Amino acid sequence: MKVGQQCVGCGQCAAYCPYEAITVFVRAIMDEKCIGCGTCIKYCPVCAISGDE
Ligand code: SF4
Ligand code: SF4
Repeated sequence: MKVGQQCVGCGQCAAYCPYEAITVFVRAIMDEKCIGCGTCIKYCPVCAISGDE
């Protein structure tokens, strides 16, 4: 998963990640627990997350 510059750090993606793989500082950061399920993409209000590695 890749997080673009449009990320506003709202934390929605982290709240919905079933694998608790996202930490938000200024922007969302995925860690090695991410399995690429794509759930976070659906919840991002600014479409900042893409499926590219
Ligand atoms: S793709 Fe799935 S596992 Fe990875 S960060 Fe998004 S919601 Fe979490
Ligand atoms: S839901 Fe989108 S805007 Fe919000 S922290 Fe996650 S990637 Fe950033």
